[in-house]
Amino acid sequence: MSARSTNSSSSIAGAEWLSWPGTVRVFEALCAGDHTALAVGGAVRDTLLGRPVQDVDFATDAPPERVMELAQAAGLKAIPTGIRHGTVTVVADYRGFEVTTLRRDVETFGRHATVAFTEDWVADASRRDFSINALYADADGTVFDPLNAIADIEKPHVRFIGDALARVAEDYLRILRFFRLNAELETEDFDTESLSACVRGRAGLHGLSGERVAGELKRLLGAGGAVMSLRKMFDFGLLVEILHGAPNISRFERLAAIEAALDEEADAMLRLGGIGVFVREDAERLAATLRLSNVERDRLVMFARLPAVAEASDESELRRLVFRFGKDGAHDAALKSWACSEKPASNVAWRKLVQRIARLPVPEFPLQGADLVELGAAEGPAVGKILKQLEAQWLESGCTESRKNLLAAAKELVLTGAERTSGRQ
Ligand code: ATP
Ligand code: MG
Repeated sequence: MSARSTNSSSSIAGAEWLSWPGTVRVFEALCAGDHTALAVGGAVRDTLLGRPVQDVDFATDAPPERVMELAQAAGLKAIPTGIRHGTVTVVADYRGFEVTTLRRDVETFGRHATVAFTEDWVADASRRDFSINALYADADGTVFDPLNAIADIEKPHVRFIGDALARVAEDYLRILRFFRLNAELETEDFDTESLSACVRGRAGLHGLSGERVAGELKRLLGAGGAVMSLRKMFDFGLLVEILHGAPNISRFERLAAIEAALDEEADAMLRLGGIGVFVREDAERLAATLRLSNVERDRLVMFARLPAVAEASDESELRRLVFRFGKDGAHDAALKSWACSEKPASNVAWRKLVQRIARLPVPEFPLQGADLVELGAAEGPAVGKILKQLEAQWLESGCTESRKNLLAAAKELVLTGAERTSGRQ
């Protein structure tokens, strides 16, 4: 069956990404000879939904080796990223485009599908996960809809293609993709059959690789409809399977509401802390199971350490907080404490606290080791010890004690230290 004989009533002509120089060049390169290439998946779906498009994937009837040749013949770089599964990344105008040869999945087990390449567009559409991800578009923006998915776009409705239970069992990551997509599209009515298949297949989440889970989970946590979607996952017992600990769904919900009230962008790591981190062990476990980066791990560990902040904290307390945890840490501490309090996201006192933290400069401790050495302290551990003592004094003062006073105190400490040492000799 040719692509052009499938349903084609809609058009996305005028979509910005259709005129990106990279998109134009990839279409031109791949449509050489008698091959057909169509954009597929997220780009078409999101354009129809009026959502922004970040990247464009292609489907083509050309076999992967031919895709490599066609791209290179057009002067484009082609990388055989997943050539065994038919995927080549074509780089054009500094962007990577994933080009996948039409395929049917002969046998699927997670990401390791045994595939057969085909020229059948319906077979290619059918092996995809959700109907709304099986929409194609040509360079002019004419949409091809082999599975009649347009009705699902109109609702929008995230629905597995074919037998939901079987599709979940083929690749349990699809459970997370289901909740992530519903969260991104902010759908209110989840497809009953698809939801039920996800719930029935939830034990399969255990076998997924950390990276794959993390990729979906981070996007889910940061999505516009994250609260609704994660609440569903919680209600049906799916979150425990992913977090491997007790989820705090209400703290997460309050945190998300507070971020929204403050007009802040959703912060996936802060939200992950909110939903799953109570003590350091939670942070370490999540970082290990989700194979998080060191920066992400540190963020979660820090989340566990953040002290309780009171909404009526005075300036000294806030300066100490900012000094110890930095501006971002102090901000997170305020949000965490607010979310743990009974106060709603509309609370004015908490909002003021967050604004006060945002305005505070990061205090700088005015002394350095070199100052003490200049005063006669012997280089070595003693310097660090005195500095710590003076820093405590300075923190006690709410980070206001002047350099002059601290130097005077330092002089005293250096002297008594020296006397003690000489007395011992
Ligand atoms: P986004 O880029 O927003 O994640 P997308 O739909 O483009 O959306 P990709 O992960 O880029 O998602 O995948 C491209 C297409 O490949 C999807 O639209 C879908 O058709 C198919 N696909 C991706 N992952 C799976 C999967 N696990 N099972 C079946 N089909 C999949
Ligand atoms: Mg994509």
